[in-house]
Amino acid sequence: MVALDGNSIGGLLLDVFGTDMTAALTTCATCGAVAPVAETVVYLRVPGTVMRCRTCGSVLMVISQIRGMSCVNLGGMTALE
Ligand SMILES: [Zn+2]
Repeated sequence: MVALDGNSIGGLLLDVFGTDMTAALTTCATCGAVAPVAETVVYLRVPGTVMRCRTCGSVLMVISQIRGMSCVNLGGMTALE
């Protein structure tokens, strides 16, 4: 499976959040690392789109397409700003 970075899903995040999120800062709920979305590790079709922490590898965000709707799970991060 090819690991991409957060820039690769900039368009998807723009659709979901309505604004450019690649420069937004994520805070990992597992290790506390703070990093821009652009620097996270992204896997496509896992199923869904999975964003992982570059420091510890924990899942930060999962975006699934269910019946044409984007469902976002942000449970792996304590902040997105
Ligand atoms: Zn982490």
